[in-house]
Amino acid sequence: MKLAVLTSGGDSAGMNAVVRAVVRAGILKGCETWIVREGYEGLVRGNVDADAPSAHNLATTLDVKVRDPSFINNLRFGDGSLLRDGTGDHPAGRTLKGRYIVRVGWDDVRGWFAEGGTLIGTARSQTFRTPEGRLTAAYNLIKEGIDALVVCGGDGSLTGADIFRAEWPTLVETLRSQDRITDEQVARHGHLKIVGLVGSIDNDMSLTDLTIGAPTALHRICEAIDNIHSTAISHSRAFVLEVMGRHCGWLSLMGGVSAGADFIFIPERPPKANPWEDEMCETIHRHRENGKRKTIVIVAEGAHDANLKPIRADYVKDVLTERLGLDTRVTTLGHIQRGGRPCAWDRIWPTLQGLDAVDALLEATPDTPSYMIGMRENRVYRVPLVEAVKMTKAVAEAIENQDFDKAMSLRDPEFRE
Ligand code: ATP
Repeated sequence: MKLAVLTSGGDSAGMNAVVRAVVRAGILKGCETWIVREGYEGLVRGNVDADAPSAHNLATTLDVKVRDPSFINNLRFGDGSLLRDGTGDHPAGRTLKGRYIVRVGWDDVRGWFAEGGTLIGTARSQTFRTPEGRLTAAYNLIKEGIDALVVCGGDGSLTGADIFRAEWPTLVETLRSQDRITDEQVARHGHLKIVGLVGSIDNDMSLTDLTIGAPTALHRICEAIDNIHSTAISHSRAFVLEVMGRHCGWLSLMGGVSAGADFIFIPERPPKANPWEDEMCETIHRHRENGKRKTIVIVAEGAHDANLKPIRADYVKDVLTERLGLDTRVTTLGHIQRGGRPCAWDRIWPTLQGLDAVDALLEATPDTPSYMIGMRENRVYRVPLVEAVKMTKAVAEAIENQDFDKAMSLRDPEFRE
């Protein structure tokens, strides 16, 4: 089996551990291993000489917004522990410029599980959303002989994976009818084996308990609140923290519990009290009366009231200042939550899931579904990709329709008020 791995959508800690695990498990199980740089965008761009007219034509034809992945472009094959072309002859001096689908070996991923972000790059590819883009992506994979793909990304990336797999026979047939691939290639690439791993800091995917990157993001939030704690205590201040999470309040809720927050706003459970300002102020006033010298309020970026009116950190600050007279500051944690070294769980789970991803691909037949590899009750767990994507979209829809109980029960079937 020729196996490629890519990372897509927003970066998350643990993506490098996925790449490392997939590459090494693939090698141990006799596969040829490849990485695709810059997510689906790399699949569409394929291996062209960036200076040649064809690359320009490709970019123009597909309306590709050419970014400059200069970091990885400047890496060289065979000059150390990073990417080489895997042929064993280490052609020192060759760069990765114009090559998005690259064969890699054991040493290329050494130590990667301790690195934050994704070293092979990620992107949001508009081109891959088009049938023409996916046709080019299929051609580029077949050209390199790759027949199995691991995609690590959020629900959008896994939706893309599902569509790609479902369309694959049509794409192959189109390429054959255009004489771009041979009958031999058609026979070999009749179906695309594909699995998805969930890389997302928000923990917003249904049918898995934990997404890759969420534990590290939670650690970053805890560290930030610890740092704020000392100044808040010293000056008896209130802090309103805005935390990531558009449809999912996991980071806010868990961050709030681990830091002893006074009040937490999450998308799935808007405050019931109307107006909620009264409830928040009463709660915080009571805490202060009981001797608390600091106040922490956490607001998920997607938080809103029961009428779906967004709750903004700045507004919460104004309420605390005006109604309780608290010296209140707003801190938006932003990208600090994404960055830094992965915590232990974001090395362990991606490794176990990466190993299972290779097994799932080796076992795949045209009749088995494409799987999402997740985690449930402390075990690696496979679920059809399409089901997980469907359920995740249903949660977002339930929130938009203000059916919050439905959202909670879809996210966690055991949920009780
Ligand atoms: P995050 O949770 O960080 O936003 P994500 O994977 O959900 O990650 P998206 O931008 O939604 O991020 O998707 C990443 C990429 O997946 C898109 O840029 C696109 O290339 C591909 N993709 C998403 N949805 C589709 C789709 N319906 N059809 C084809 N490709 C898609």
